[in-house]
Amino acid sequence: MGNLLELHEVTKVYSRGLINAKENVALRDFSLTLKDDEPTILTVAGESGSGKTTLAMLLLGFIEATKGQILYDGRDISTLEGKEKLAYRREVQAVFQDPFAVFNPFYTVDHLLTVPIRHFKLAKSRAEARDKMEEALTAVGLRPEDVLGRFPHQLSGGQRQRINVARALLLRPRILVADEPVSMVDASLRASILETLRNLQRDYGVSIIYITHDLTTAYHIAKSIIVLYRGAVMEAGDVDAVIKNPQHPYTRLLVDSIPWPNLDQRWGEHSIIAREANEDSDGCPFRGRCPSAMDICSTRPPLFEIGPHQTAACYLYEEKPKIVPDRVSELLPV
Ligand code: ADP
Ligand code: MG
Repeated sequence: MGNLLELHEVTKVYSRGLINAKENVALRDFSLTLKDDEPTILTVAGESGSGKTTLAMLLLGFIEATKGQILYDGRDISTLEGKEKLAYRREVQAVFQDPFAVFNPFYTVDHLLTVPIRHFKLAKSRAEARDKMEEALTAVGLRPEDVLGRFPHQLSGGQRQRINVARALLLRPRILVADEPVSMVDASLRASILETLRNLQRDYGVSIIYITHDLTTAYHIAKSIIVLYRGAVMEAGDVDAVIKNPQHPYTRLLVDSIPWPNLDQRWGEHSIIAREANEDSDGCPFRGRCPSAMDICSTRPPLFEIGPHQTAACYLYEEKPKIVPDRVSELLPV
């Protein structure tokens, strides 16, 4: 028993322009721990520009943190080499927003699935490769005979996104980073694709980091949630607690802006709509439009422990115990 993934106060700063370079803190002091024996589904939610894709890129090792550390199986991912690097590349898989992006229009589905099998030497024979493909396709709710041999344009958007999930699953990942996996898929298909992700967590023990701007899908798929705003964690905890009883003024605004008479219906159609421009980096990023803003909000609020499974970075809870980012995961149910 140990930790599969640990992020310790990870910060990513992008600088733009050579002269008068402007720094943009896309993600700030983000910490997270996933245990290796407790596969879970965690949502990272936030409006566009809140740092979600930056987090996904960091997790996948596509970009490097400016500050902080990311450990996989106890090893800093920036130092991995050889076999360990290959294992990490195989075990942490991604599904992105655009189901078309990974398809080359001139290759069939078979080709798309064969490439990773070869690259990671997952099968000893063609027959074994075929079995693996069929198993993965079936696991994501596709009938192999419906999709094998087809070209991308012959498939629906929902089928394409399922194939992307199958492709990730082939590699027997331990973590799946799903960055807005259903936002380009028809609303009518979203629920069943998310259901498929949930089955993977249950049946294959894959931990899923579900990244979304959509709180209704988050509510239905995840156990726990981290709400980001302009790169900073605003609130985190049990998904039920945070969505049914939001404590941070920002989360309240998000939840209030969603007209959901019944959380169990019509999910996957409402997105976070809050927007703001407040360029200075000290203080609470939300204070510019926070109805509860106070003088003290010009210094960045730490996280306060509001309940057994809930924390918010807001001085309204100043009398509660403070917690350091590295302890946030202790409040997240699995
Ligand atoms: P999200 O996925 O939540 O929409 P992103 O992680 O894409 O957020 O972006 C977070 C912030 O970082 C935004 O302000 C965005 O403009 C900036 N950003 C993202 N990628 C880059 C990049 N490659 N170079 C410079 N700035 C970037
Ligand atoms: Mg994004």
